[in-house]
Amino acid sequence: MNPENRQNETGAGRRRPIRRAVVTGGAGFLGSHLCTELRRREVEVVCLDNFLTGNAVNIEHLIGDPGFRLVQCDVTDYIHVPGEVDLVLHFASPASPIDYLKLPIHTLKVGSIGTLHALGLAKDKGARFILASTSEVYGDPQVHPQSEDYWGHVNPVGPRGVYDEAKRFAEAMTVAYRGQHAVDTGIVRIFNTFGPRMRPYDGRAIPTFIRQALAGEPLTVTGDGDQTRSVCYVSDLVRGILALAWSNHSGPMNIGNPHELSVLQIARDVVAATGSDSPIEFIDRPVDDPMVRRPDTSLASHELDWTPEVPWTEGLARTVEWFRTAVNEDSLEAAT
Ligand code: NAD
Repeated sequence: MNPENRQNETGAGRRRPIRRAVVTGGAGFLGSHLCTELRRREVEVVCLDNFLTGNAVNIEHLIGDPGFRLVQCDVTDYIHVPGEVDLVLHFASPASPIDYLKLPIHTLKVGSIGTLHALGLAKDKGARFILASTSEVYGDPQVHPQSEDYWGHVNPVGPRGVYDEAKRFAEAMTVAYRGQHAVDTGIVRIFNTFGPRMRPYDGRAIPTFIRQALAGEPLTVTGDGDQTRSVCYVSDLVRGILALAWSNHSGPMNIGNPHELSVLQIARDVVAATGSDSPIEFIDRPVDDPMVRRPDTSLASHELDWTPEVPWTEGLARTVEWFRTAVNEDSLEAAT
């Protein structure tokens, strides 16, 4: 491992210590966990969000903290942050299929214009920049597991193209800023992540199954449930992303949990974890839904000394507990 790339919470070993970070999309699921962990590390945080798919509740525990500032803005308009910035984490984007299918043009705009603005901020401030990319850049993969040198199998004109191609464009622009403007960039390809603060109606398998199980409704498995997902608990993901941020590595780097489960198995485990007696029901699979997904995480393990630590069943238990306590009955029953 390159010693410069070793994770170091103080920022020592990097060219410049990380004292102040900007998180776009900081009120979302992942962004809010990143803001919390950055504050725990005593990094000042400026959170930029337009609350399109995020929620103020996700960051309410940080409001009043003098080291945390929330700016409500749309990063596709412009980004203006006074003062020094050492790190820009660009996480603003609709991320669940339900959201990006409802917001196709916005998804393309935030992946292109929003990324341009976030890169511009990093360039102006001389900051490290991390792009939240996705395993969706691999599309419906023909190589399994997926390592970073696989170029992917994406349908640009299919319904998911708006998200996949926005992220592929964002990666290309990040590489261009590194090459042409010497911006210190990193690209993280995030695989399916789960944990507290997921929205019960965001359409992703785990929150959908938990919501259905807690409401005593049937769990709706798409297709025959043989398609696989590899799911990473959010605290492991955040640790991996910040390890990349504190390193000098440009990526792209996969961060995810290689433990692969069929969607049917996920549904069965949710039934067991909730103690529900809900049945499992099979419904149609969405168009271009990937058949398999599993990250090859050798690069992150070698370069960052990072491996996921939270086992699936433990992460699931914590997430179910959060749904039981933080999500009220009305939102389990009524679509939000
Ligand atoms: P999320 O929808 O919970 O969070 C996205 C946040 O971005 C929201 O708070 C939303 O309001 C904000 N936002 C959207 N457009 C904006 C704009 N124009 N200006 C300002 N804010 C805007 O989604 P998430 O699951 O937290 O995903 C965060 C990032 O991680 C996304 O870029 C997503 O593509 C990437 N990602 C997530 C996963 C996952 O499993 N959750 C997997 C791969 C990649």
